[in-house]
Amino acid sequence: MHEYGLCESILEAVERRASGRRVARVRVRVGALHRVVPPAMDQAFALAAEGTVADGAAVDLVTVPVRVSCLACGHAGDSDDPLSLCPACGAAELELAGGDELVLESIQLATSA
Ligand SMILES: [Zn+2]
Repeated sequence: MHEYGLCESILEAVERRASGRRVARVRVRVGALHRVVPPAMDQAFALAAEGTVADGAAVDLVTVPVRVSCLACGHAGDSDDPLSLCPACGAAELELAGGDELVLESIQLATSA
């Protein structure tokens, strides 16, 4: 499950930012090139977060599309599917930009009970 590896690096960032405080929710920007499956991400995060400050925290995923430019017809657009052919002409000569982000956008601390 490759989401687990992503979650481990997210968790490092979460723990740095939380500095020991409990975390209720994290918001993560993930590029479409990582091909993250949200339910798998939730599971992997729950597993990776066990015993950390983010144990039981919810994950909000924000998918960042890949910017696609077609070298054949000049079409340019955003895509969530990095392997797709050009939607305008069907060519496979696409130039991809971005989509490999993995950024911890924000954390929400748990209110101490
Ligand atoms: Zn094209």
